[in-house]
Amino acid sequence: MSRRDELAANLAEVNARIIRSCEAAGRDPSCVTLVAVTKTWPASDAVLLRDLGVVDLAENRDQEASQKAAAVGGVRWHFVGQVQTNKARSVASYADVVHSVDRPSLVEALGAGAVRARRTVEVLLQVSLDGERGGALPVDVPALADLAVETEGLRLAGVMAVAPRAAEPAEAFARLQVVAEQVRARHPSATLISAGMSGDLEQAIAAGATHVRVGTAVLGHRPPPLG
Ligand SMILES: *Cc1c(COP(=O)(O)O)cnc(C)c1O
Repeated sequence: MSRRDELAANLAEVNARIIRSCEAAGRDPSCVTLVAVTKTWPASDAVLLRDLGVVDLAENRDQEASQKAAAVGGVRWHFVGQVQTNKARSVASYADVVHSVDRPSLVEALGAGAVRARRTVEVLLQVSLDGERGGALPVDVPALADLAVETEGLRLAGVMAVAPRAAEPAEAFARLQVVAEQVRARHPSATLISAGMSGDLEQAIAAGATHVRVGTAVLGHRPPPLG
């Protein structure tokens, strides 16, 4: 089977899962956008996915992301990894959407980078649902949202989370949905909820996810990192 056929078959399965989940939740399937996470896979896979109609692609490391964004046009690039402040200028120069904004210094650095590149970058506030992995605590999210809205070069688009390993995804995503509603009450255009990966996209869609970030189920198991 060619790589193109393999990706097409995986995509058909993932799209079927999305449609079934939307139906189960009484939601229109067009409300959910598939973001394919191409990290560790070659730029040629990003091209194949684009040509198969997947125009939202994500990366989690600046160096790899900047190379693929330069090589592959015609897609929206999403950045889903932790951003060190000294990488913010670079990320703001190519990313269309940054899902992992979790602190005021990063909001300011991304805004400065976007202004410098004469771009507008959409930002999602990453919410920590266990107080441990990356993300802002729910209590800190409203002030971070206000700061993002006031920052030139950025557009606040919504919230993002990764389900904690120790929690039930359904319960964790329900808590994210509460935070999302608080943000939207203050900033009505911040409607995106980025949640759900290969293993838990059903639970995320049940809890209102608008964007699912899927790597393994589309591209296969990632090879171990080099070096
Ligand atoms: C790698 C990654 C994904 C995709 O995970 P899979 O389990 O391979 O679908 C989603 N979100 C983030 C933040 C990631 O780093």
